[in-house]
Amino acid sequence: MSSAKIQSTHQERMAYVYVRQSTPHQVLEHRESTERQYHLRERAIELGWTPGRVEIIDEDQGRSGSTSVHRTGFQRLVSEVGMGKVGLVLMLEASRLARNNCDWYRLIEICGLSGTLIGDEAAVYSPRDPNDRLLLGVKGTISEAELFTLRTRLYEGRWNKARKGLLQFPLPVGYVRGNAGSWELDPNTQVRERLSYVFELFRRHAVARMVVRDLRQQGLDLPTLDVRREGYGSLIWKAPTLSAVVRILHNPAYAGAYVFGRWDYSGSRRSSKSGKVLPHLLSVAQWPVNLLNHHPSYLEWGEFVKNQERLRQNWNREGGRGVEREGNALLQGIAVCGICGQKMGVQHHALTERRSSSYICQRGYQYGDTKVCQTMTSRPVDAAVAAAFLEAASPMSLQVATRVMGQIEEGLAEKRRQQQMQVEQARYEARLAERQYDAVDPANRLVAAELERRWNEKLERAVELEKAFARTEQEVEWQLSPEERAAITHLSSDLPAIWNAETTTSQDRKRLLRMAIESVQLDGISVPGQIEVQIQWRSGVVTGLNVKRPVQGEWSLKTSAEAVARIHSLAGKSSYTEIAEQLNKEGFRTAFGRPFTHQTICYICRRDGVAPGRGQPGSATKALPDGSNHGKVKQ
Ligand SMILES: [Zn+2]
Repeated sequence: MSSAKIQSTHQERMAYVYVRQSTPHQVLEHRESTERQYHLRERAIELGWTPGRVEIIDEDQGRSGSTSVHRTGFQRLVSEVGMGKVGLVLMLEASRLARNNCDWYRLIEICGLSGTLIGDEAAVYSPRDPNDRLLLGVKGTISEAELFTLRTRLYEGRWNKARKGLLQFPLPVGYVRGNAGSWELDPNTQVRERLSYVFELFRRHAVARMVVRDLRQQGLDLPTLDVRREGYGSLIWKAPTLSAVVRILHNPAYAGAYVFGRWDYSGSRRSSKSGKVLPHLLSVAQWPVNLLNHHPSYLEWGEFVKNQERLRQNWNREGGRGVEREGNALLQGIAVCGICGQKMGVQHHALTERRSSSYICQRGYQYGDTKVCQTMTSRPVDAAVAAAFLEAASPMSLQVATRVMGQIEEGLAEKRRQQQMQVEQARYEARLAERQYDAVDPANRLVAAELERRWNEKLERAVELEKAFARTEQEVEWQLSPEERAAITHLSSDLPAIWNAETTTSQDRKRLLRMAIESVQLDGISVPGQIEVQIQWRSGVVTGLNVKRPVQGEWSLKTSAEAVARIHSLAGKSSYTEIAEQLNKEGFRTAFGRPFTHQTICYICRRDGVAPGRGQPGSATKALPDGSNHGKVKQ
């Protein structure tokens, strides 16, 4: 026993027991180790602390992450030690306390400064003693190295087991573990049948949302496994949600496959909330371990694969990600419902349908309601907004083009965000240092002086960062140089040409629109036969337009008016075949860009009531609809 190091000055202060296990799973599985950690409390009492002076810090239970940023318990421990309130810190192994060397050395340093002892099951160390300090340092290094080898070994071991389908993980609802670890269908008939019914409904509708709607209408709940700490893994029934249904449909286990490594954790994106790596889902073909017919299934593997494809398509059709997509619907992402104020989605139709896409307000839709708020075809609205955009482009050219250089602005905004976070962190650290300084006994001059120095340091850093932040703030409102101004004027005078150029993709057009337009409100209900369009420009101006609601087929592809007129003029004199040849010779093409044939001419002549060799048609060609009626600029 190294009790010689323990003095009454230590025992008058607190003894802290730091307990942690990484994940809720570990917390459950490694009860023994957790219990050992809690036993350290008794050890503190054995070493001479009164029970009232022993405190357990276990708020980091179930939190993983190799740095201390997201472990509030560790941060609290460090700050309490820094305040000189702690006489002894107890933990199971060095590695439990600090997962990386930085944290560990910081703790040793602070313990040394405030005369706090560090202990585990076997010994008590004084960081002020050079030998102990060395030992603790080595301990930290070793535990970090150990952690690394351990992790590698575990990782390899897991993969080896997984490749054979032997690695055990919590089974999805609907399966139970049989003898010798095999997967069996849940003996609970209700669970099995409800899951089968979900697959059946998806077979019928091919849309996950419809599955939710049906389940809700029929008042059916979905079985799920409790993930809360109390009652972990037990079966509960919950009202169906879209995410729950999608999760079931996405899970290959129901198709009898044993799959491991669906998620790739190698990326560098981390959650800002928990600090954990954000994984991304690999496609079926990329799954490293995929053993088919591993256990009894709820659906065929082939159907599962088909379902994934369907889900993917639906997801894109609903435009869930708000990414600018190829195709029309220029207002995607900026269209707002004029009835309820919700953002409107875009419904794309299959190419073969030759239908223009529509704007659709899906309020209530996601929750399984059958009715949508309103829907309208996109083409006439797009045309009107584009015309207004090009018209308005000259007076507000400067602003539009300023946004062209919005990339710069975006870059600055990101920089600003990062800096803001840094400033906040620095302020927090300064506050922490201040608290530590305030709490220290003024008689303890060495410590007080050191803490004061640190506090000042933190304050200076916070001020520095605030200054840098202010500089960035100024940069955001940057000035245009004369050259930039010239470039902008040039661009704006060319805008209609750029807009119509063949090389300009609809994605480019969407981007251009978004530079100038904040949002577009659409109301296709208030006035029958019309769509009221309100363009909210980024400059703050609002423009109102009225667009005629197209009658069926009006905005579908049609043969050009010139071609139709030419057909009509030839109809009295030549046969269908001759007319077709003549039009092709003159360079006309059908609505789909193909040469005219006997059939196409025949169709047009019959539709318009003209026949070959029988004089001129009675009716003149119809004018193309001019759906838009713009003007009316409101301030
Ligand atoms: Zn709506």
